[in-house]
Formats: sequence, structure tokens, C-alpha cells
Amino acid sequence: MAAAEPTCCHSLATEAALTALDSNQAGLTADEARERQGRHGPNRLQLSAGRSSWMILVDQFSNVMLLMLLAVAAVSGATALHQQAFPKDAIAILVIVLLNALLGYLQESKAQQALLALRNLAQPLVQVRRDGLWQRLASEQLVPGDLIRIEAGDRIAADARLLEVADLGVQESALTGEAAAVFKQAELALEPGTPVLERLNCVFQGTEVVRGRGVAVVSATGMHTELGQIAAMLNTAGGESTPLQERLDGLAKALVGGALGLVAVVVLLGWLLGQPLLNLLEVSLSMAVAIVPEGLPAVITVTLAIGTQRMVRRAALIRRLPAVEGLGSVTVICSDKTGTLTQNRQVVQQLRVGTHGVEVSGQGYEPEGQFRSHALPPPPGAQPGCSAAVQTLLLQAGVLCSDAEHRQQADGGWEVLGDPTEGALSVVALKAGIDDFELRSHYRRSAEIPFSAEEQLMAVWIDDPRGTLQAPLGSSAAGSTRLLISKGAPEVILSLCDHWVDGAGVVAMSPEQRQWWLEQALELAAAGLRVLAFACAPHHPSPGQGLQGQMLLGLMAQLDPARPEVAAAVATCRQAGIRPLMITGDHPLTARAIGMAIGMADADSEVLIGRELEALDAAQLQQVVSRCNLFARVAPEQKLRIVKALQANGEVVAMTGDGVNDAPALKQAHIGVAMGITGTDVSKEAADVVLLDDNFATIVKAVAEGRLVYTNIRRFVKYILGSNVGELITIGSAPLLGLVGVPLTPLQILWMNLVTDGLPALALALEPGDDSLMQRAPAQPGESIFARGLGAYILRIGVVFASLVILMMLLANRAGAPWPTMVFTTLCLAQMGHALSARSDKPLLQVPAFSNPWLLVAVSCTSGLQLLLLYVPPLARFFGTTALSAHDLLICVGFSLLLFLYLELDKLYGLWRRRSGADC
Ligand code: ATP
Repeated sequence: MAAAEPTCCHSLATEAALTALDSNQAGLTADEARERQGRHGPNRLQLSAGRSSWMILVDQFSNVMLLMLLAVAAVSGATALHQQAFPKDAIAILVIVLLNALLGYLQESKAQQALLALRNLAQPLVQVRRDGLWQRLASEQLVPGDLIRIEAGDRIAADARLLEVADLGVQESALTGEAAAVFKQAELALEPGTPVLERLNCVFQGTEVVRGRGVAVVSATGMHTELGQIAAMLNTAGGESTPLQERLDGLAKALVGGALGLVAVVVLLGWLLGQPLLNLLEVSLSMAVAIVPEGLPAVITVTLAIGTQRMVRRAALIRRLPAVEGLGSVTVICSDKTGTLTQNRQVVQQLRVGTHGVEVSGQGYEPEGQFRSHALPPPPGAQPGCSAAVQTLLLQAGVLCSDAEHRQQADGGWEVLGDPTEGALSVVALKAGIDDFELRSHYRRSAEIPFSAEEQLMAVWIDDPRGTLQAPLGSSAAGSTRLLISKGAPEVILSLCDHWVDGAGVVAMSPEQRQWWLEQALELAAAGLRVLAFACAPHHPSPGQGLQGQMLLGLMAQLDPARPEVAAAVATCRQAGIRPLMITGDHPLTARAIGMAIGMADADSEVLIGRELEALDAAQLQQVVSRCNLFARVAPEQKLRIVKALQANGEVVAMTGDGVNDAPALKQAHIGVAMGITGTDVSKEAADVVLLDDNFATIVKAVAEGRLVYTNIRRFVKYILGSNVGELITIGSAPLLGLVGVPLTPLQILWMNLVTDGLPALALALEPGDDSLMQRAPAQPGESIFARGLGAYILRIGVVFASLVILMMLLANRAGAPWPTMVFTTLCLAQMGHALSARSDKPLLQVPAFSNPWLLVAVSCTSGLQLLLLYVPPLARFFGTTALSAHDLLICVGFSLLLFLYLELDKLYGLWRRRSGADC
């Protein structure tokens, strides 16, 4: 498909570029866009989808345990051929190795596809103008000629020619490798041959807006963009192994090493005891097969995949697999306030104009509400009162100094497009009859300083040729044709003001009056409101002249109620040994009020302010973060220091963020959490988890899921490895006890490890969580999978398992019964009891029997299959078993029950020790 856009957009003036792209200031119509999409295709890069299939397949054979099995197959095959026997063990092992590799391959490819699909779910939305209206569309729908609006935090979705910019800084390292931001200009028309990197009037797909905002017309999409042509963006989704997988790889190596050592000991002792060498060789082969937990990798992959799915259902999208288990060990959750702990549905409730307070009634975005004014004790030297015209100017200033739009939907409801803080200003203005659309079309903006969380203010220069807007300012605005309006955090705006408007008009602001205004702001913040101050300056020339010398118009305070579910989530965190922290750009008193509403703080809670934080060195900060839960007026880059200080204290940190400057903190945190709705593309890219509903409670649910995944993995690891150790000791003991013959052939062991252990282990991975998951402390950071007694349990169970089976083996041997088949059967049946018992640390009778029906199905099916292996002649021949008499079978069942009994008594003993405090 040919790129229809002219390559020289940058050499045309803005209007000419619009014409060249067959577009206009109102944007394309939906029909035109559809027609162009048909021609140009979707705006999508054909990314390389992670590791190639070949790489995944080859990787399956790099596992040391599979390599050992291949070696076993080779030796076993050679021995059989030497004895002129059919090499069925060797073939079976080869088949298992291939099946295992195939299964691993399928699962990994599927996991990779699933991760890529999940990434697509998080596809960025772009602000596009279609049919004259700004709307949010998926970036795939962009076509050349579309008008787009970009702002700080956006990842640019297509190449575009800028039409309008306000302090627009773009980081183009995706194309240039250069980290410094490039400041863009719309008015330039460049030489036709200007190299791409010097085109200051264009923006490019894949680059990031780091400050300011702009409007541009799309010039190229999809693979026709600069980035598409370089095709340099390599996507490595799904290529990461989780810390757990890495730990298990280490375990595999240790198991193989240990098994080889044990084999050497058995062979040596057996030889000294006069065992035939061939018998010893067969025993060694069986031992080597026994130690490999063939079913484990598959079960782990399935568990992680199930965990990811469960989390998506709970609105937490996992972008990197390690996050699934990482979430389970989180000890601190640092959360933004606005939108995460609160609803981000701001409603202006209070104004301060002149010396009056004004209460505004009304709910949500509905433009219905009353203004009720009351006199406040005025500041010293002020003329009491409040002019209605100044109140109107304050409301108009709110609309003109913001970008959000407030409009009615088809169903009659009202919505806000843009920042809810600014949307609330349009809503309160409409309550007074001021329509944002109409007002903005009357008074055009000629320059601006966009809002930034660092500066905590926004300023605009409004053309007012006839002076109608500034009329309420009286003589001080006489002859002014332009008005600077600024809004922001009260202490910031007040520091820029030297005048204000009292009941009589514009007056100089005395220190006492400044103090009075600061106290008004404090009082509103202490009620949990978010306070914005508004100021203006007639005659102000341009952004280059500094912002000092303004006159204060008043305050507006907005309520952003806490999300109703957050208080319960905070309580859950506390129970689960997780400390929730609030890190906000808002005022400390607002932070404390919201903190109290959700149970995160009380009236005396310490609040650390960004400015104070700046003065602390790393060691002092480490101390403060260990006790303080509220951080206010924090700039995004200070979040990084907070994360680092917490990590230095040994915490596992989850950190939320939405802005472009939050990205470093999100990357630094163990689990970076981005906001799906309000988050910028850059923050989502940096995060491990994206919250589809922006809700703090969702993080807590995801933590619970993470803990369940980890608990289930430990459950089946102990189940599978306990059995392996038992098999290993049993097999190794036979020659040392003078028995000739191998208790278990490699084929029988493979059957046990894959079927009789594998199926119940899969069912254990589906074990549902219970309340206890969030009632105990998190796992120690970096703890081994065998921590908290798991390793000791595996060895203990393995030894008990083996002792019982060996006892039975000796008795059966003495009675002339078919002892190898009885060993095989007892081991299998005992594992069924072990699976049931491994479900919980509580005695089985206290666990609801049907809460995991899969386990009952797995245990019944596996036991049935085991009987088929004994009593169906072809199977019996293939697996080398003998049909057991009822008497012998009962003996096997009896010994299996003994093991089950032991397991349950072991649990009771453990519980008793914990209760009596003997165990720490
Ligand atoms: P959080 O970090 O919890 O999301 P926040 O959203 O309140 O907190 P910021 O957005 O950094 O933090 O806002 C900090 C302060 O800047 C606010 O308390 C407010 O006074 C001011 N402010 C917020 N939004 C705007 C805006 N659009 N224009 C001007 N000032 C703003």
C-alpha cells in the first residue's frame, strides 16, 4: 500500500499542510476516515511477536533434567539392545521427553500470545477530531488527515505535522536514542530536504510527549511512519522467565547433581555388597528418572497462566509474568490519592470570593445547583463584601484556564472529557449559566503554560479586545486587550499575587490579608477538599515575562469522595501485614482528611511534605518512610526517592502512578502499577500491572491472587518432590538390602511422575483461596521456595514414605509376593492420600470436601487408571506389572493409608506446636 501523504509536510505552512493532507480544522468526517482506513489499513506496526517459535522449541531442550533423561534413554536403549530385548523404557523416555518439550513449547507460545493480546487490550486511546468533535478513539483507527490532540504523557500514535503547540517537549529517543526533550514549533516551514530528526514542526510515532500540549494533523500511519520504516521496535513480550522459574532451574541443577551423587554411593556400596553390575546399572537408571519431577514445569506454567486470567477478571492486567508471584510478596503499597483512593469525580462545593464564602449545591456532573453566599469575618483592613461580577469572572476564569469539556450524552446524562479537576470547573460554571463551549469561542487563548504537577499551576493568555471579560476589575484593567489567568495550588498562586479583589474592588494585598487567604485555603483543605486558587493580570504581555504581580480572584474547593470500597481494602492490607501509603500532589490537610476517611490515618498522623522530603538525606528518609504513611505536595520525581528508601528498608514495594514523570518510580518499584483509565501511555509502558478500573481495591485483590498463586505452587511442589524423594530412596535401598531386581522401572516412574503425580498436582493448582491468605504476613522478600519448613517437609515425607514402602517391600519379598508391583501400587495410592492432605495445613476434616472438585476427579481417575495398569493384561505387560491378589492389594491400600494417617498426624502436631508457641 502506498503512503498517500506528501513527504514534505514539514516544508509547508500549517494551512497548506492541512490542505495537502486533504483535511481541515474541523477534522475528517467519519465517512472520510472510514474510506481512508480502507485505503491505508489500520494504524498498526507489524511487530516481531517476541521470541521466534524455533527459539522457544530449542529452549525446551536446554533444561538439564531433560538432558539427563535423554542420557538415561540412551544408556537404557543400549542395555536393552545388548540383551536383545525390546528397548521399551528408552522409547518411553524419549516419547516423554518429546511430549514434555512439545507441551512446554505449546504452553510457552500460548503464554506469549496471551501476553501480546493483553498488551493490545491496553492499546492507547488518542484524542481525535472527527465530524468537528473531539473524541477518544483507539490509536489503530487513525488515518492520514486526522486531527489529533497530544499532551504530556502521550506516546504519539502516528507521524503528524504540528498545527498548534504550547510548550511542547517531545522525547524522541525511540527514533534517535537521544534522551533530551526536543521543543517543537508549529509555525516553522522548513526546507524540503530537512532530515527527519531536525523537523521541529513534526512529531513522530513512538516518541513521547514529556511536557506541554499540541494539535497536529496526521501525515503517516502504520508501517509508513518513520518508526514503521525503521521497524526497529522489538517487542519482547513473554520472553521473561519469572524469579520462580529461575529458582526452579537452580533446583533442577541441584536435584540432578544430588541424584548423580546418590547413584554413585548406591553403585559403590552395592558393588561392595556383591550386587550384579547390571542390576546396579538398572537401579541407577531408575534413580535418575525418579529424581526428575517431569510434571512440574507444566504445572507451574498452567498455574501462572491461571493466575493471570484470574487477575484480569478482577481488572488487574498483568504486563509481565513475574508480577503474578511478585504481587504475592508485596509489603508496602504506595498509592496516589486522586482517582485511585478517590473516585476522581470532582464537584466544586465551595467558593471564596471577596470576603464571602459561597456554598454550591448539586451532584456529579449534572449542571443543576444553587449558590448560597455568606459573609466571613473579613481580613484586617479589607472592605467586606463580594461582587457578583467578580464571582462570575472567577467562574469564567475557571473555564478559560482549563481544557476539559463538559457535555451532554445521547442518553441525557452529562460527561466530562479531560481532567476531572478541570471538568468540575465547567460544571460549576454551567450551574451559573456560563457555557464552556460558548465562552471559549468568544475569548480565544493566545498563549499558555500547561499544568504540570511540578509547578502545580497553569496559566493562559486570553484575547479580550473589547475588555468585556476584565470589566469587573475596574480601572486597573482599563485599556487591556489581553488577560493572563492562572490557576493552581493556593500557596503557589498566592506567592504570585500582590493584589486581590475585596468588597470594594482591586486592592493591594497586605501580609495579614495574604495570611487570611492562606487560612481560608487550609480550612477548606482540612475538610478534605481539593483547593484551587485563581488569579489574573490585565496588561500582562506574554509567558516570557514571569508570572509575578497578579491579582487573586478567589478560591474554588472541590470534593472528590473516597471510593466506597477503599476503606475495606485498606483494612485488608493491614490484616495481611501490608502497609498502605498515600503519596499525593495535593495539600497535606486534604491528604490527611481523605486518609482518615479510609482508615489510613488519624487526626495525629504525620504527613511528610515534598519540600521537607527534599531536605532529608537518604538515611533520614529511610527512617521517615518506616513510620510515615502520608506524603503530600510530592512531585513525581520525589516518588522515586520514596521507593528507593522503602526498598533500602527491605520492603517489597508496589507503586501506582499515572503521569509521564511517574515512569522512573514505576520502573524502580518491584511492582509498578499504572492506571488504565487516566494513566498516560508512558506510565503504562513502564508498569508491570495496569489497573483497568484505576481502583486501589483492585491492587489488594491482585495481591490476594498473587498470594494464592504462590501458595498453590508451594502446595504442589511439596506434593511432587515429597513423592520423588520417596521413590529415590526406595529404589536406592533395594540393592543395599540385598534385593535383586529394580523396585520401579523407568517406565513405571514416568507413569507416576506424569500421571499419578501430575494430574492431582494440576488439580492442586486450582485450589481456591480462603480468607487466611490475607490474614498472614507476606512471604519474606526473596525467600526460597523451600522456606518456612517446606524443604524439611519434603525430606521428612520422602523418608517416611520410603520407610513404609521399604518395610512393605521386605515383608512382601519374604512372603514371596510380587513385591515390585506392590511397591509401584503402594507408592501411587499413597500419593493420592498425599494430594488430599496437601490441600491445606488444616486437618482434612476441617476443609470443605467439595471446594476443589477437580482434585476429587483427579484422585478417582488416577486410582482407577492404576488398577487398569494391574488388571488389563496388555497394559500390565507393557508396564511390567503383575495382577495383584485381593490380599496383596489390600496390603498396598493399608500401607498407603498409614502414610495418609501419618500426614494428618504431622499436621495436628504442627498446629499444636504453633499454638503452644514452640514453633516460631
Ligand atoms: P495524586 O498524586 O494523588 O493524583 P493530585 O492529583 O492531587 O494527587 P497533582 O495532580 O499533582 O496531584 O496536583 C497537585 C496540586 O496542583 C493540586 O492540589 C491542585 O492544587 C493543583 N492542580 C491540580 N490539577 C490542576 C490543574 N489542572 N490546573 C491547575 N492546578 C492544578
